[in-house]
Amino acid sequence: MPKTQKKPISVEDRIETLLKQLTLREKISLLSGQDSWHTVAIERLGIPALVMTDGPHGVRSSQAEVGRIDGPATSFPTGVSMASSWDPALIERVGAALGEETRAMGCDILLGPCVNIVRHPLAGRNFEAYSEDPFLAGKIGVGYVKGVQSRRIGTSLKHYACNNQEVERFRGNSIIDERTLREIYLSQFEMIVKEADPWTVMCSYNRINGEYASQNQHLLNEILKQEWGFQGAVVSDWGANHTVFESVAGGLDLEMPGPAKYYGRQLEEAVAIWQIDEASVDAAARRILRMLLRSGKVDGETLPPGSLNTPQHQTLARELAEQSIVLLKNEGGLLPLEPAKIKKLAVIGPHAALGSIGGGGSSFLESPYRVSPLDGLKAQLKGQPVEVVYATGCDSFSNLPAVRGLALTTPAGKPGAACQIWDNPDFKGKPVVERVETNRLEFWWFTAPVKEVKDDFSARWLGNLTAAETGRHSFGLSSSGIARIYLDGKLLIDNSAKKSEGMFSEVYTQVEMDLVAGKSYELKLEVVRPASENHVQAKVGYAYTPRPAQDARFAEAVELARTADVAVVCIGLPENFESEGDDRRDMELPGRQNELVEAILKVNPKTVVVLNSGAPVHLPWVEQVPALVEAFYPGLEGGSAIARILLGSVNPSGKLAETFPRRLEDTPAFINYPGTKDVIYGEGIFVGYRYYDKRDLAPLFPFGYGLSYTTFEYSGLHLEADGSAGQPSESGGRPVEVRVTVKNTGKVTGKEIVQLYVSDLQSSLVRPPKELKGFTKLELAPGESREVRFTLDERAFSFYNPYLKRWVAEPGQFEILVGASSRDIRQKGSFLLK
Ligand code: BGC
Repeated sequence: MPKTQKKPISVEDRIETLLKQLTLREKISLLSGQDSWHTVAIERLGIPALVMTDGPHGVRSSQAEVGRIDGPATSFPTGVSMASSWDPALIERVGAALGEETRAMGCDILLGPCVNIVRHPLAGRNFEAYSEDPFLAGKIGVGYVKGVQSRRIGTSLKHYACNNQEVERFRGNSIIDERTLREIYLSQFEMIVKEADPWTVMCSYNRINGEYASQNQHLLNEILKQEWGFQGAVVSDWGANHTVFESVAGGLDLEMPGPAKYYGRQLEEAVAIWQIDEASVDAAARRILRMLLRSGKVDGETLPPGSLNTPQHQTLARELAEQSIVLLKNEGGLLPLEPAKIKKLAVIGPHAALGSIGGGGSSFLESPYRVSPLDGLKAQLKGQPVEVVYATGCDSFSNLPAVRGLALTTPAGKPGAACQIWDNPDFKGKPVVERVETNRLEFWWFTAPVKEVKDDFSARWLGNLTAAETGRHSFGLSSSGIARIYLDGKLLIDNSAKKSEGMFSEVYTQVEMDLVAGKSYELKLEVVRPASENHVQAKVGYAYTPRPAQDARFAEAVELARTADVAVVCIGLPENFESEGDDRRDMELPGRQNELVEAILKVNPKTVVVLNSGAPVHLPWVEQVPALVEAFYPGLEGGSAIARILLGSVNPSGKLAETFPRRLEDTPAFINYPGTKDVIYGEGIFVGYRYYDKRDLAPLFPFGYGLSYTTFEYSGLHLEADGSAGQPSESGGRPVEVRVTVKNTGKVTGKEIVQLYVSDLQSSLVRPPKELKGFTKLELAPGESREVRFTLDERAFSFYNPYLKRWVAEPGQFEILVGASSRDIRQKGSFLLK
């Protein structure tokens, strides 16, 4: 370097310089939020506040926050879809789009990905998470984090760790042995930290072996920071920090949400009286400064531009849906449908005209639009002589769906509900805000709903509802805090006195009323937040719920199916049914959906069922249905993707990232779930297919399974191993190379997900019969064949030895299994590790 040129200042030097300029109080101020979503700015040094937002599959245009940009953000398919695509490169592109949307929404950190292992089918957040397998979850997570962060937007790898159910999510204690922890529940975090370097890791609410995740020395300091070398900041899940001393010592860097409960005055005092060393504050502050410097905002750099819900992002959302939808059954080649052979197509079911595109909880985002399966099919069949007929048949909800503002009319006659907000808890004086609400009557506020109020407030929504039918209608209120609804001035539900379990575990009350078609009724919601509460939630549910004798919808749907050439039945779980805050009670489909499918199967053998769920459901008619498609929660373009798959313009290529069991009783954690105070991870390392394999139990649909409109042939497995791969790499172990040829033997182009499993035949400790250690997705034209290569390093053969406290690859015989699913192994090879 020529003498005149200045050496660039390293990030670490800049951190030290900034640190020296900060007072103790300023350093501490960096360690908690300014409010629910912002970090604290220090203007005198040009340190800006960073804004965080939920994710993970879209940027939530949060009503929970004042002054945030209000969308419209693209609603991408959720985590389970990302994993079912088995395509990390695609997820990296999706991540980049999410990064752009985060920027356009004025935020800096997207709170995702959620990489918790799918341990039990009923867990409420399975739809947000990726898989039962840590290798698959890790690879998908690496793609996601790299993609988002390529736009200089941060991610938050969550929820660290063992946050695998919603029952007792705030204080549950996961009792888990070290080996299971390392092999199953931490491996994906480890891979993502090492390969993708997330800006933050979010520690979970629960306890692990007696210690809260937010103050867990072993998890945060020993493993994450020391062993894996994590350089980012550990942020608490919202409200997960409970202490000063233990959390600082345990490795928590940033308390969220703000303002600080513990990491403010209490921390300052603890330092002042020499109970906490200032060096610990410095260590945490360094990590926050590093994150700030990574954002480029300290230096006012030119940052990658943002973009929101562009046609490109919409197409990408559709591409992800198309790549992830799994074809579970296709007897007699019923799919793809051939329009030339169909005069009348019946599209039936509660999810036909309004599919679920996401689950409930903090990940939920209001979508700017959504294409339903019915819309999608109509659009794809436009111009063709196919008559598309539709009937709902039945409902799919148990808790009532939220009322949309637009379904109401304000007293002044405008579409929407008239909303008034007061800056006091008593509806006193003149409202500080009056506006028209057109979105759902579903609110979740951490801080103030509008900038005009500070702490306590009261709010009222008023709208006229015109009944579409005469008969029984139901109203529901789910809330935490003070909330009530009125109909025509009469109190209908008051949840105020009932105590909720906390965020997303609201109290739910439902009442039934007889209404008359065409008549208008005044619906009123009142919400109050006293200064003593920092959080309030309310959702008004409403639906026409006729008594069975007056419900003509079921018979009408069956009749339509009878007279149609093909029936496409769209069923599933409504949005919010799978949700943060609650686990499902069972695997049943709500309402009369099973009955509907059974009745339709009796009148039309050409029935295709499209399932909308983030996790397995019980399908009592599964043996009878010829064609079955799992669409998961496919995002705003989901209906287009479903239609393109049903009609064959896209060949399905998704594969299950989670085993579909025959019965709940067959599942690995059945006996131990949900636990009482402790959640015993008694199934150990035998999670997902590892358990079904070990017990030689046949699942309904195995891990890694999914059909295509074409067929693939596997041949020529070739193994190159000098037997040294398992030696510690310092001693020069060589990776094992595996090659296998895959050929498209069918008539259409298709994509195959080739999976490689390793089986350890001689091991000192028990091991799962096989474990996923490689996969690749490739597209082949009819007749085309290609060689696929895998490189397996030492880790691929290792298990975590709890006695030696490290990963070991033991000498002995190993088998390499390559196939189309965990239960469809097509090629095998073996070698001796010396
Ligand atoms: C959830 C997180 C979320 C956070 C902020 C928590 O309740 O567990 O996933 O990012 O809230 O909304």
